Amino acid sequence: MNSELANLQKNISLANHTTFRIGGPARYFMAVRNSEELMAAVKWAKDNSLSFFILGGGSNLLVSDDGFNGLVIKMQSDSLSVVLRSTFAPLSMNSTTKDLEKMKIIVDAGVPFGRIIMETVKGGFSGAEWGFGIPGTIGGAICGNAGRLGQAIARVVANVTVLDENLKVKTLSKSECDFGYRESRFKKTKEIILSASLLFAKKEPVKIEAVLNEAKAVIKQSPPYPSAGCVFKNYNVKGGSDVLLKNYPKLAGRVRDNKLGVGQLIDQCGLRGRQIGGAKIWEGHANYMVNVGNAKAQDVLELIELVKKSVKEKWGIELEEEIRRVGF
Ligand SMILES: Cc1cc2nc3c(=O)[nH]c(=O)nc-3n(C[C@H](O)[C@H](O)[C@H](O)COP(=O)(O)OP(=O)(O)OC[C@H]3O[C@@H](n4cnc5c(N)ncnc54)[C@H](O)[C@@H]3O)c2cc1C
Repeated sequence: MNSELANLQKNISLANHTTFRIGGPARYFMAVRNSEELMAAVKWAKDNSLSFFILGGGSNLLVSDDGFNGLVIKMQSDSLSVVLRSTFAPLSMNSTTKDLEKMKIIVDAGVPFGRIIMETVKGGFSGAEWGFGIPGTIGGAICGNAGRLGQAIARVVANVTVLDENLKVKTLSKSECDFGYRESRFKKTKEIILSASLLFAKKEPVKIEAVLNEAKAVIKQSPPYPSAGCVFKNYNVKGGSDVLLKNYPKLAGRVRDNKLGVGQLIDQCGLRGRQIGGAKIWEGHANYMVNVGNAKAQDVLELIELVKKSVKEKWGIELEEEIRRVGF
């Protein structure tokens, strides 16, 4: 076996690699620290006719109780370099020198999102502070276009370098990434994010601090149990002809940035606190499902089906999952 495959392991529990603490074993598991190891891992999976799954921080996943019958590749590449910290030339007559100061960093996919927030905030740069407390890696955040407080990671992405299905490295511009609400092209393609170039702008420290404090307040409302964050995407309001708002006009006052939080819709189905096996709809926020002790993926799936059915019956809408299913 070549040296790039030295980390290859067998039969590794995926519950230990997810924030939900749920899931059976990966038949094969390899933590990769650079693109050479990643390429070797993907090539090995292809040569052995195995499917592979790219794992970041495991904070947005529901892994099957049977685990994953292939190779799980954990992204552990963690280089972060500041490549630019300067004042740009004016882009338009309306630009002020204050908003021209930029910081550009290149980060490997395995870098924790939290580390990027710390690096930028300490230099007085804005663009990621809203994400304080969101677990996982930058690769995972880009894949799902992670967001909070009306912001999303796509805003700071300049470009993304990937390994494509043919093991070719290519760099995609932001517009090629097809970012949308909790969406990107990476959810559909087999491309693996290797690194990203991110652009941040200088901002007054008090303004950055204010957003950080808002993000900290959100963390205080997070469940004290293992979870994978919000299970469902918030409801996307479809302009003036939206069926939900037409039927329930009072909900209009709760719409923010065209989105309606689905926690309140689930709550009003009387599901708060509902438990199946070790999985429970958290009392503090009904869009979270929590593992209150030895939950099985099957328990979570049953709760998901119950929520979808109840919301469809009461509100007439289909919920879309935000968490990713693995091994089903
Ligand atoms: C307590 C808690 C709070 C949360 N709050 C928020 C929140 O406010 N906003 C929010 O958006 N999310 C939130 N989440 C969900 C989650 O933290 C984010 O979605 C996070 O960005 C996922 O990153 P990850 O590295 O853990 O990805 P993983 O869960 O490991 O993977 C998620 C998906 O990304 C893919 N992926 C990961 N890395 C790569 C890569 N390098 N190349 C290609 N694909 C890749 C995986 O294959 C998978 O499909 C929360 C989760 C928890 C547990």
